[in-house]
Amino acid sequence: QSKPQARVDGSTGVMFSDVAGIDDAVEELQELVDYLKNPSLFDEKAIKPPHGVLLEGPPGCGKTLVAKAIAGEANVPFYQMAGSEFVEVLVGVGSARVRDLFKRAKVNKPSVVFIDEIDALATMRQGIFSESNDQPYNAATQERETTLNQLLIELDGFDSGKGVIFLGATNRRDLLDPALLRPGRFDRKISIRPPGAKGRLDILKVHARKVKMSPSVDLTTYAKNLPGWSGAKLSQLLQESALMAVRNKHESILQSDLDDAIDRLTVGPRCVGVELS
Ligand code: ATP
Repeated sequence: QSKPQARVDGSTGVMFSDVAGIDDAVEELQELVDYLKNPSLFDEKAIKPPHGVLLEGPPGCGKTLVAKAIAGEANVPFYQMAGSEFVEVLVGVGSARVRDLFKRAKVNKPSVVFIDEIDALATMRQGIFSESNDQPYNAATQERETTLNQLLIELDGFDSGKGVIFLGATNRRDLLDPALLRPGRFDRKISIRPPGAKGRLDILKVHARKVKMSPSVDLTTYAKNLPGWSGAKLSQLLQESALMAVRNKHESILQSDLDDAIDRLTVGPRCVGVELS
């Protein structure tokens, strides 16, 4: 009845060794893996299990990747949905999806629930009238609030669902309803920042494992010279370089392939045979 459903990975197959440049975050998240591997150990030691964890930071820096790695390391199912998939005009549909998501995750616990772009579902509630444009309280607003309330109910009822970890990701923490950030809901907030030069090198090395790179290529220089490039962009760079190597009939990726790939990613594909006056 209430579609779309969460995408489920029985096991994501992603490990912490696939994640680079955000070592502090990974270290902090290791505890969640320990918990998922053995939830009852936390009970025995009377340690409060982690509730929800908010991953925040700019696009493409590894929020989804690290969430998948938590499930992969613990070898548990991963239930993934985007915040926008809960946003419906029909009252009750979004909240039914939230209920359904957590119900499925609890049946298959231990498990991880991950909601990407959680700001789409959990934007600040604005009372009866929107402050910005005095729009009347309409069905869409009511639906959004009902959905958010259902999410809060699910997070508050987590004790009965021992063994489920909830992770949310956002690029816009400032938009989130403060109720969601209260302790006991998202009780941990982890910042996933863009990588520095060392982080970029580590990310390039992770992705270089998946392609055939010539030993003559010095990745350190590239890592230094690509400030502001996210993990997603660096991964794209190596994929594009692999394509360039094929096109240039090289057996492995050479420096010139990487340079061509950088040109394409920064300038865009060249127009062959088109005269620009
Ligand atoms: P968004 O906010 O757009 O959802 P995100 O932070 O969730 O972005 P990911 O989806 O995790 O970003 O990253 C996209 C891809 O980029 C990953 O699947 C991976 O290939 C690569 N990547 C991003 N960050 C890293 C990283 N820290 N280490 C290794 N690879 C990375």
